[in-house]
Amino acid sequence: LVPRMQGFGTTIFAEMSALAVRTGSINLGQGFPDTDGPPGMLDAAVEAIRSGGNQYPPGPGLPELRRAVAEQRRARYGLEYDPDTEVYITVGATEGIAASVLALANPGDEVIVFEPYYDSYAATIALAGAVRRPVTLRPDGGRFTFDPDELRAAVGPRTRMILVNSPHNPAGTVFTRAELEAIADLCREHDLIALTDEVYEYLTFDDAEHIPLATLDGMRERTVAVSSAGKTFSVTGWKTGWVTAPAPYVRAVQTVKQFMTYAAGGPWQRAVAYALRNELDWVARLRDSLQAKRDRLVAGLEAAGFAAVRPQGTYFVQADIRPLGFTDGMELALALPEKVGVVAIPTQVFYDDAAAGSHFVRFAFCKKDEVIDEAVERLRRLG
Ligand code: PMP
Ligand code: GLN
Repeated sequence: LVPRMQGFGTTIFAEMSALAVRTGSINLGQGFPDTDGPPGMLDAAVEAIRSGGNQYPPGPGLPELRRAVAEQRRARYGLEYDPDTEVYITVGATEGIAASVLALANPGDEVIVFEPYYDSYAATIALAGAVRRPVTLRPDGGRFTFDPDELRAAVGPRTRMILVNSPHNPAGTVFTRAELEAIADLCREHDLIALTDEVYEYLTFDDAEHIPLATLDGMRERTVAVSSAGKTFSVTGWKTGWVTAPAPYVRAVQTVKQFMTYAAGGPWQRAVAYALRNELDWVARLRDSLQAKRDRLVAGLEAAGFAAVRPQGTYFVQADIRPLGFTDGMELALALPEKVGVVAIPTQVFYDDAAAGSHFVRFAFCKKDEVIDEAVERLRRLG
């Protein structure tokens, strides 16, 4: 293994899901739903397979999906993208992020990330030979946020890019317009690229609203936005994502992406194009149901003795383990399956500043109510 990838080992999600299987535990670790996406969309995938959509799709993606993505960005956010030159279909958001970083960050360039950061960011930045510069999100007034001065101090002569994930996994924060303005100010001032990971764009709760960074003044021209179907339509296994950006950035992404996978799976693309056009009411109901599940899990975690931070979006709750007398989230996450038969994610693996994250574990609530209830029952035995 090349030195720059040493230390990345196995992703925490694979490790913890394997642990769940091995111990027969309830898996509230890796974020995937235990119910299926909209039936019409599943039928569209089957139909695509049955009707011969089984050979290479065009590298940039099926035109019908690129058009559906462009229409979605326009209808929902007022953002205009040319489906032929400014939309590119990828193998999930993961590939979109990797291709963007590899295409746009030079060796030695710095990429700012908000920690706790999604694990693929660190690996991808390392793969590019670039350097990550974390800015820590800390709980403040019931949500995780950053100090704008710390963000400003993180920008230096080698800064190339700010990677912004909102709604944020695992913190659950949906950045406010003011927070996004603070990021945008720095991008405009220092001529930085913003790479936005918007995979939870539909999964926001209460009055939290997802605002794409590209909608802010002067930001469309410097933003590479990434999203995917996995979370929106409960098909995390379909690995169908997209990049929307000005044409020169999309061409850069294309140059890299075409040699990683050439194209993303065809039948899924057809079904996702259908879903973006016809299943957004289904997504609204999914959002409502996830909000209720969030409240169910937060209440349960609090009853079990954790201090839970109620997320504004995503699938995940960050739980502070200190009220239960624990201090090391990794130790607890490794012991939980044996102790009570529940798997969670130790959030500290997403931090450079281990002290900031060592007392959190992340629980997923994209599960059936009875699964959440049973997990909570088990967790109550901890106290
Ligand atoms: N970014 C974040 C923040 C995620 O939580 C995930 C997992 N859905 C991804 C990217 C990867 O998305 P995909 O499965 O579409 O590659
Ligand atoms: N996004 C999912 C999570 O945060 C995991 C995806 C993966 O396993 N790579 O749980």
